[in-house]
Amino acid sequence: MVPIVSSASEGLPSDEDWDRVLPFQLDALGVRGRLVRLGPSLDAIIERHGYPLAVARPLAEAMVLCVALATSLKYDGIFTLQISGDGPIRLLVTDLTTDGALRGYAQFDSWKLADGYVPKLFGQGRLAFTVDQGQNTQRYQGVVPLEGATLADCAHTYFRQSEQLPTGIKLVARRDETADGNHWRASALVVQQMPEFDAGRIDVDQEQREDDWRKAVILMASATEKEMLDPALPGKTLLFRLFHAEGARLFERRAFEARCRCSRERIDRVLKSIKREELADLRDPRGLVAVKCEFCSTEYSYDESDLDRIYASAA
Ligand SMILES: [Zn+2]
Repeated sequence: MVPIVSSASEGLPSDEDWDRVLPFQLDALGVRGRLVRLGPSLDAIIERHGYPLAVARPLAEAMVLCVALATSLKYDGIFTLQISGDGPIRLLVTDLTTDGALRGYAQFDSWKLADGYVPKLFGQGRLAFTVDQGQNTQRYQGVVPLEGATLADCAHTYFRQSEQLPTGIKLVARRDETADGNHWRASALVVQQMPEFDAGRIDVDQEQREDDWRKAVILMASATEKEMLDPALPGKTLLFRLFHAEGARLFERRAFEARCRCSRERIDRVLKSIKREELADLRDPRGLVAVKCEFCSTEYSYDESDLDRIYASAA
């Protein structure tokens, strides 16, 4: 990664910050981190589904957590975060590809919903993520029980249990109702202790290392929800405000966008794998077989001649 000279990025409009991750490093503390901020991608995904607030907010948090976790790993493929439980929200799924395509959806029982904390929303459940790098590669998977009041608490449980380097994360998400509609913003601030040999601070003793880590966590936690979600406050300014004394170095931003990977060809393949007579149950009143993508709500419909074509090519 190439450090950005801070003067070169002066005066960037703050819009450059949204749907972006801004990596940074605190050399004085031997810590690296990331500021993730999502805006337009959340609007595209959440408003398209029309989810109630009690579902939309945890989905926004899960999506920003997905980006925060995915960007801490080196992978080439798909990172998936899945939260499932026996509460009102049965399932949240969000995934991110290496080339920046982000999507997500929720399954829930609307009659059971009560706005609140993780145990109320998800019940007993688990948070799992997988890294899929394509055929003939090992799938990497992490699973933790849903423990704690917030998704950030659940993520901390994961970091503790998985013998990762000490990691702190703060997650916030909010919907603003404005004259031109609802606008979502979500942000994650992550700090992670660097391995000793990476931090380049050979003369630092263990106690100093622990104190430096504690300091980084305290400074991270001092970021307010308002600052993290303020569209008028550039991410760069926020990081310098939090860590100016620690020699924060910023790296190049990475961009994301709401983009689904579904396609008619993929649905064709799914249908082809099902016996034609079993499709009878899927027919709508017009007699068409309709398949809806859960992620983006795009509906793919097939009439008899479409099905003839699919099943002919399967032979
Ligand atoms: Zn789709």
